[in-house]
Amino acid sequence: MNIQNIETFQIAIPLHTPFKTALRTVTVAESIVVKLTCDNGVVGYGEAPPTHVITGDSLPSINYAITKIFKPQLLGESLRNREQVFEKLYKSAVGNTSAKAAVDMAIYDCIAQQARMPLSEFLGGYSNAIETDYTVSVNSPEEMADDAQRYIHNGFSVLKVKVGKDKIATDIERIKAIRKRIGSNALIRLDANQGWHAKEAVRAIGKMEELGLDIELVEQPVKAYDIEGLKYVTENTETPIMADESVFSAYDAKRVLELGAADLINIKLMKAGGIHEAVRIAKLAHIYGVECMVGSMIETKIGITAAAHFAASQPNVNRYDFDAPLMLAEDLIEGGITYNESDIELGNRTGLGINKVNDRFIVE
Ligand code: MG
Repeated sequence: MNIQNIETFQIAIPLHTPFKTALRTVTVAESIVVKLTCDNGVVGYGEAPPTHVITGDSLPSINYAITKIFKPQLLGESLRNREQVFEKLYKSAVGNTSAKAAVDMAIYDCIAQQARMPLSEFLGGYSNAIETDYTVSVNSPEEMADDAQRYIHNGFSVLKVKVGKDKIATDIERIKAIRKRIGSNALIRLDANQGWHAKEAVRAIGKMEELGLDIELVEQPVKAYDIEGLKYVTENTETPIMADESVFSAYDAKRVLELGAADLINIKLMKAGGIHEAVRIAKLAHIYGVECMVGSMIETKIGITAAAHFAASQPNVNRYDFDAPLMLAEDLIEGGITYNESDIELGNRTGLGINKVNDRFIVE
């Protein structure tokens, strides 16, 4: 099974409501979709959204890396020697993790189809039960409490709240309003997206602890590069702290794990450069007894299907942040994962199980 062709398409799908974090506001989901065809007729899919403020990757850079750098390197390569293929992919350019992830997904889709297994089983087959959280976008406390209540009513039991963009007091008012409205049953996890300094984070999280807001975990309180600050926050709060933007690669994970700088790690295919590196991060964290979440960028169901199959394959992945496709006004693909409220079904088709990409969303 050799790689015969690698094609890319740019797609754009509107979100039904804007997605707001400390770093950005998104109203349209844009992505580069990869279609990888093998000489035996097997076709694999992948995708990469541009997330300039996190990975540095833009639509033109993703497209260029795939078509002008990776494609010439990979055409004709046999997927029977996949370690060699991934070595070529990673060595052909530094960075460009999103572009690498899109190609990596498509390669895994093909290999698992050839092995006649769903990708989750091919990668390890640990779990079938995946439950996503749902993100409450940043608005007034009253609006956020209304949204939170609606999501709980719609079957979600884990809410993710973005903080770190405004004053700490404002964030606390928002969480108080949500907790008051939904009661004690649902989990609330916070994501500061690098919005605080270390001491500010300790003060904010300490205040939330004092108020009994019962926060499950706080993601990335400080700047991505500030590993010492991350460690300071982890050591000076009772609430579990999760590294997200601080951990792209297995090398980053090694540093955070060795220092004990975080209690948990959020793995994303777009940061890691795909499933191959994501598996290495999960395995490394497992050695340290560290649990992981698998999250995503604003991706369509192609990327989330790949991420969900990876997440279900690993024993120490037990938190899932896969709500992005639920924010899209329409679905891009036939096949892949299906949502039943917060539960995600992987299905039993081979590979990623994608039948067809809806070409209505392709941008010329
Ligand atoms: Mg995050």
